[in-house]
Amino acid sequence: DNPIPRKPEWIRVKAPVSAEYHETRNMMRELKLNTVCEEAACPNIGECWAKKHATVMILGSVCTRACSFCNIATGRPDKLDPHEPEHVAEAVGRMMLEHVVITSVDRDDLEDGGAAHFAKVIKAIRKSSPHTTIEVLTPDFLKKPGAVEIVVEARPDVFNHNLETVPRLYASIRPGARYFHSLKILNEVKEMDPSIFTKSGIMVGLGEQREEVLQVMDDLRAADVDFITIGQYLQPTPKHAALDRFWTPDEFASLKTQAFGKGFLQVASSALTRSSYHAGDDFRRMREA
Ligand code: SF4
Ligand code: SF4
Repeated sequence: DNPIPRKPEWIRVKAPVSAEYHETRNMMRELKLNTVCEEAACPNIGECWAKKHATVMILGSVCTRACSFCNIATGRPDKLDPHEPEHVAEAVGRMMLEHVVITSVDRDDLEDGGAAHFAKVIKAIRKSSPHTTIEVLTPDFLKKPGAVEIVVEARPDVFNHNLETVPRLYASIRPGARYFHSLKILNEVKEMDPSIFTKSGIMVGLGEQREEVLQVMDDLRAADVDFITIGQYLQPTPKHAALDRFWTPDEFASLKTQAFGKGFLQVASSALTRSSYHAGDDFRRMREA
């Protein structure tokens, strides 16, 4: 087991106590929806849910993969809920979201990896909340030919797929995934529909070097990726990948400067940055600029 190191003072998280937090929680239960906020034990849940910002996780709560940084359960996946698209749409409407992030577990067991279900969710939200911008954070659809096209044809505003870490660490951190495959699908999305913004993210603190992070940025820009998120890995339990170190606020600020210098349109880089953290605010700001 890997002991969990003490968090430095710049990683402070407020307990989730607001009325909005409970309201969001109850609604998710009522509509039988999962959120990555809860399943991944995200440290921002108090802040995000108080602002009614949540990331809905579709296709069940059990993943067919077992990435060593991730707190989501692995095993035999749930049966697909055919009512999920309308339930997600209802949640978006009730929360009056301007921007929604939809993600999922990996479904290597499904022929299309769950792509058609993603498309149904996008279409259901569009129908009932036409002004809400939609961001999907998808699996890598490895060995699922045609899956990316299905999601792109449903026209999300932002197509997000995380690289998670530098290529050297894939075997231990993201087994079952391929760095260049993940880069390729981001590139394909842009080629299929240049009006869709593409986005990706990595965690630091898993043992990567700064030069390797800069190389990932270059690879993403070469794949025409528009937005990047960089956050601190926090080890969920002693069974998960060992934390190498905490990057300092200055280091995150410096990565941000580098990323803008390389041409990303939107950059989020801080200890508590997550793929979906402030996603709506950042997206709106960028479009208004
Ligand atoms: Fe949920 Fe994302 Fe906020 Fe975390 S950062 S609580 S996953 S919306
Ligand atoms: Fe977690 Fe995604 Fe890896 Fe599944 S594929 S274990 S949900 S990071």
